[in-house]
Amino acid sequence: MSNAIDISGLNCAYGENTVLKDIGFSVKSGELFIIIGPNGSGKTSLLKTISGNLKFEEGTIKIFGRHINEFSRKSLARSVALVPQNVPTDFPFTVKELVLMGRSPYLGILGLPEKEDFEIAEQSLAFTGAEHLSSRKLDQLSGGERQLVFIARAVCQQTGIILLDEPTASLDLSHQVNIMDLMEKLVEMKGLTVVMVSHDINLAAMYADTLLLLKNGNVISIGTPEDVLTFKVLEEAYGCTIIVDESPLGKVPRITPVPQKYIGGITS
Ligand code: ADP
Repeated sequence: MSNAIDISGLNCAYGENTVLKDIGFSVKSGELFIIIGPNGSGKTSLLKTISGNLKFEEGTIKIFGRHINEFSRKSLARSVALVPQNVPTDFPFTVKELVLMGRSPYLGILGLPEKEDFEIAEQSLAFTGAEHLSSRKLDQLSGGERQLVFIARAVCQQTGIILLDEPTASLDLSHQVNIMDLMEKLVEMKGLTVVMVSHDINLAAMYADTLLLLKNGNVISIGTPEDVLTFKVLEEAYGCTIIVDESPLGKVPRITPVPQKYIGGITS
């Protein structure tokens, strides 16, 4: 299968501060690819470079084999959709209007949506299970509902790749699983490539086809959850004591960070 994303020799800086250092990896078409790593390791910056929202100094990013610099803004938006972190919700828009904005890369010079655009927006809301929210105002939604709606906008953009920055952050357990099940559905039913950042390593272990562990702008490890989630690699990356055993679900690693008060009990 061809690659959705190929990155090599990528360096990216904010002024003097280099935050991505000689990064290289590939994302296969149709996989669920999850980026993990400590705070400040460059995860958000990496998503921003892939979505064309952050310029990089050196290296190459190819989207479906084509250099990212060859895309116009509009054509990149037809290939890559981004669901950012902390999405603003103080717009005076309804859910339906927001989702329809996913059609912007396809609209003509007047920017007027046509019948087909309205239909695609409705289908996207239905696919994400958010059609009942269609007439609601954005600022009246719960955190979980808001995430669904922004994912619906990305689906409405009809790209081959969807990037999401911590889509499960601050959601309760059932909403976390709901969002992750939806990620899987995007891959399996729509054949999309999903690249997401997650702080929840256990959730990532249960769903990822491939995991990438970043630290200080470097790729520390990449592979299946079993390959990446070893206690040695995790302890080095996160700088705390970690137990890795098998999840009750079967061949999936389960990660338990060990509180200081238990550490003597484990080592003695
Ligand atoms: P992560 O998503 O892993 O927490 P980020 O990509 O947000 O990491 O940040 C990586 C580094 O880049 C951090 O040191 C952060 O302080 C810095 N950084 C992020 N955004 C900016 C910005 N807009 N301007 C300057 N530095 C930034």
